[in-house]
Amino acid sequence: MSTLPAIPLLHESGGKQAKHALAKSRVQLLLGLFLSTGIGLLAYRRRSLSRSGVAGAVVTGTTTFGLGGWAWGLSLIFFFVSSSLFSHFRARDKAAIAADKFSKGSRRDIGQVAANGGMATLLALGYGATPSPVTRELLQAGYAGVIATATADTWATELGVLSPHPPRLITTGALTTPGTSGGITSLGTGAAILGALASGLFFWILRGCRRSLLALPLIALISGTIGNLFDSFLGATTQAMFYCPACDQETERQIHNCGARTRSLRGLPWMTNDMVNFLSTLVGGLAAMLLQLPFLRSKHPPDFV
Ligand SMILES: [Zn+2]
Repeated sequence: MSTLPAIPLLHESGGKQAKHALAKSRVQLLLGLFLSTGIGLLAYRRRSLSRSGVAGAVVTGTTTFGLGGWAWGLSLIFFFVSSSLFSHFRARDKAAIAADKFSKGSRRDIGQVAANGGMATLLALGYGATPSPVTRELLQAGYAGVIATATADTWATELGVLSPHPPRLITTGALTTPGTSGGITSLGTGAAILGALASGLFFWILRGCRRSLLALPLIALISGTIGNLFDSFLGATTQAMFYCPACDQETERQIHNCGARTRSLRGLPWMTNDMVNFLSTLVGGLAAMLLQLPFLRSKHPPDFV
């Protein structure tokens, strides 16, 4: 029993460290709760979030900030603030070009928040749960890819619609109308690439510009662009589109802004806009984790592979 005195000693200091880490993460979780509640309520007052959207933002904000730390939490805020700024940019012009997508009544509800923030929340939970540095490194890259995709998508949507040239479908190249799912413009794609890179650079700076993480901005750029292209691809192929008989208009929504129930026009009924957003962040996150593999600092393989 007492043949190996080094082991109980090691355990003791490990236990102290774990207790310290737990206390630190509790403070961090509380800070995350306060910060995300404050930002959520501000967004509610500015009409960017609905009540259920605030609840979703608080859950996502608390987990990412509480388990991922400052860099994770502030990256989420970077996505949210930059997207809000761009959505207010030339808002009237956009409502005139594509009323359905940019109408004033479009507060983000919990479904929309979960679609963009669900993957981020899951990665933060995994990051907080695993002690393995290599797995944490991978999950961190995945998080950067998720935020890059969400940022790329929003920047592309908010700026691409202002393109002087009409969008083309990503699949066939056929001309389509602004605001149509699956339609891309060079302005929108440029904004997507820039958004992905900006979010990655921001994350890298927050992580202290570490040389070991030098690949992260590039990984965010590539994975965010892949996620955004996948979003457009689903939009052009399987995304559910509906038709509002009251307004004689195509829409992505089952209940139109006018309040009327729409009917299914094409696409898979369950492939809603929220589902498309969720799947594209999933693809962006996976792409980032794959791209991170050659840069893993430890020589040991991750514990779940
Ligand atoms: Zn309608």
